[in-house]
Amino acid sequence: MQTNFSEEQLKDKDIKSSEKEIRKCVHCGFCNATCPTYKILGDELDGPRGRIYLIKDMLEKNKPANDKIVKHIDRCLSCYSCMTTCPSNVNYMHLIDSGRNHIEKTFKRPFGDRIIRKFLSIVLPNFFFFKTVAIITNLIRPFKFIFSNKLKEMINLMPKHFPKNNLQIKKINFNSNKKKSISRVALLTGCVQKVISPQINEATVRLLNRHDIEVIVPPKIKCCGSLNHHLGKEELAKEDFIKNISTWYDEYLNNGLDAIISNTSGCGTTLKDYGYIFRSNKELKKKAKKISDLTKDITEYLSENVKLNFTNTDKFKKFKIAYHSACSMQHGQKVHNDPIKLLEKTGNNILEIPEGHICCGSAGTYNLLQGNIAKILLNNKIANIEKVKPDIISTGNIGCITQISNGTKIPILHTVEIIDWYTGGPKPEVLNNL
Ligand code: SF4
Ligand code: SF4
Repeated sequence: MQTNFSEEQLKDKDIKSSEKEIRKCVHCGFCNATCPTYKILGDELDGPRGRIYLIKDMLEKNKPANDKIVKHIDRCLSCYSCMTTCPSNVNYMHLIDSGRNHIEKTFKRPFGDRIIRKFLSIVLPNFFFFKTVAIITNLIRPFKFIFSNKLKEMINLMPKHFPKNNLQIKKINFNSNKKKSISRVALLTGCVQKVISPQINEATVRLLNRHDIEVIVPPKIKCCGSLNHHLGKEELAKEDFIKNISTWYDEYLNNGLDAIISNTSGCGTTLKDYGYIFRSNKELKKKAKKISDLTKDITEYLSENVKLNFTNTDKFKKFKIAYHSACSMQHGQKVHNDPIKLLEKTGNNILEIPEGHICCGSAGTYNLLQGNIAKILLNNKIANIEKVKPDIISTGNIGCITQISNGTKIPILHTVEIIDWYTGGPKPEVLNNL
């Protein structure tokens, strides 16, 4: 795509990077074919190619965003399906991030929107606030009919139960009988995940410890920053990014870290992008790149580094497990085969879901902010899951677990809970009736 940025504009490192990506785009429109919002809405401006034009126009003319631009950019899920399809390797993720930052700087949203977005940016990443708000929501749930549709949707999506957090972090002592050193990894426990599904972190730590891998959870790390990053609130996001980079890098230097494990693929995608985000920051770029290089999705880490001891899989009943590949996993991190191969080792029948490249509508805060589109995507996803008639659904992202469980009674588990069970861990509670 031809661009007309001035030399002065190109001195700005972010503009320069955006220009490079825009110029790669050859207008072919292949990306529209796999874009969920284009498929639903059929409007060129609700597809990746149209959004790239909108971002180019804003950045090139240095013009403030307007209602029309914001509407189409806000409708993007950041699912990155378009990046998997694009033959020219356009990094749409970086383009949409810069578009969102420009909107945040130049556009005044209506009062109600500003309040909701501010609320989400403060409450969701904070363990204490999130739990407090969820408890209050449970009290007002019977009276939700008095609220607007958007607030009703939000109330519906808030958790009703808070399982007890039994995460146990223990030191694994080097055993001289084992002729290998002990690996040491840091786990990102996820701000929302540790409140609503602590059993996912428990299964991760149990599984790693059982295979002689020490796991640490630095208390200073609260949130990966991706929630604010995708809301365009870059300053708030960078506070988390910088704290996380410094904390993990100090741990890496002083005590050694072999990997940073993510079991929430949305967060993992952002961690792997820290190196890019700080590419021009003299003080942090080396550290940020190291953190990105160390980051592995749990299934990626297990596949590359651990010889898993699958216990006598014959004694278990065989299930049909539908694997839902989260967008941040398959499109954001390009991790798709690892979880499927691990699941196959359990001896169960692993099924791929039709149209598996299309988002379930979760997408961070998308199901809270774009409820109508998210609902269509959820209904489509459930219909496709039901086509393969699974006993269980498995996925690697808490957002997808929450979203999909709102549309079906089929039990849905994090992939790591299944691997933990089949390598000696307890049977997940949600399967008690199966
Ligand atoms: S990120 Fe997803 S919703 Fe956004 S343009 Fe790309 S394919 Fe469409
Ligand atoms: S597929 Fe890639 S090159 Fe083609 S229009 Fe989409 S972003 Fe541009």
